[in-house]
Amino acid sequence: MKYLILVGDGMGDHPLDELGGRTPLEVAATPMIDELCRNGEFFLNRTVPEGFPPGSDVANLSLLGYAPERYYTGRAPLEAAAMGIRLADDETAFRCNFVTLDRSDDDNVTMVDFAAGHISTTEGHELIAALERECADETFHFHPGVSYRNLVVVRGAYPELATVPPHDWIEKDVTAHWQRYLADTTWRNLLQRVTATLAAHPVNRQRIRDGKNPANAVWLWGEGRMPTAPTLQDRFQIRGSMISAVDLLKGLGVIAGLAVINIPGATGYLDTNYEGKAQAAISALASGEDFVFVHLEAPDEAGHQGSAMAKIQAIEDFDRRIVGPIISALRTAGTDFRVVVTMDHFTPIALRTHTSDPVPTLLYDSRETQPKSGRPFTEKECLIHDQHQRNSLSGAEMFMNKLFCR
Ligand SMILES: [Zn+2]
Repeated sequence: MKYLILVGDGMGDHPLDELGGRTPLEVAATPMIDELCRNGEFFLNRTVPEGFPPGSDVANLSLLGYAPERYYTGRAPLEAAAMGIRLADDETAFRCNFVTLDRSDDDNVTMVDFAAGHISTTEGHELIAALERECADETFHFHPGVSYRNLVVVRGAYPELATVPPHDWIEKDVTAHWQRYLADTTWRNLLQRVTATLAAHPVNRQRIRDGKNPANAVWLWGEGRMPTAPTLQDRFQIRGSMISAVDLLKGLGVIAGLAVINIPGATGYLDTNYEGKAQAAISALASGEDFVFVHLEAPDEAGHQGSAMAKIQAIEDFDRRIVGPIISALRTAGTDFRVVVTMDHFTPIALRTHTSDPVPTLLYDSRETQPKSGRPFTEKECLIHDQHQRNSLSGAEMFMNKLFCR
């Protein structure tokens, strides 16, 4: 028996006027998912527990069967795991964004750009190297990631700090948040050294000459220590792989004890290497693994762009180029399988950000011959079905137990 979770990140949506009151999932042509629906079951899964922000970190942790209430310690430690950084017990990781702040004085600070003009990875690495040289000490270390997404690891106890994600404050006044960093000497000294180093660096001088947003500050957030969680092998006696373009998901894979497969050309955008992902899943299962988690970021990106057309395209690509080839290969090989098609959270086009709606979930077992749902896989159908059956999945543990029940 093979087990699969196929995730269209942010695929869920609310009805849109521009689509005649329908959602992108309702409009998109998804022949393979429709076919699975015939013998499949619908559920709603509450991936984001009450009181948690609907981030991809919380929601995907939940999809991997780890109750966020119990295992979520922050976003940065998951990214550290993806980057191969092993946090010691006394270390805390912070996400360290390069940002562009308008900071003429510290009493008036605006978040001009949460990503410093999506600075290139090469430029980012040069800046992180300079910060590690000029600003690191026995307490703070800088680790390069991709583009604006880097990490700071802090050793030992540090002055408490309430942080906010910079992408929630685009073009907004962040004075109160910035002042919190400055209120304590340790953080203030670090950030002053960082700001001076960044201001003097040739990378930033060149960016300003080119009319691009400079990385004139770092924004620390998403902090936490490494979660200690049993692997999926410990819990369900299965071996598997994580297939995603996104560091966060790779980190979750490491925590869950999955092999993390890097796909050349996997971008996290609409132009990602769909065929490479599908093939990697097929190969992993054919080589004897029991489980794959395949994650596609593109529908979420379309949601953040606010483009219904891009989202429909991303969902159709998910069906035709990910779900389709994987299911066909399993059938050709004559393998029994249980597959979940779902999403981590909604990224509604009209809101351009995530919401905590419980997510539509399709479970299909290849041994099932009785016609089941027969209805299309949509937000509405899953909700109606859930109201009839009252068999809502209440969250992470139940979801995984449902998938792995044999
Ligand atoms: Zn997501």
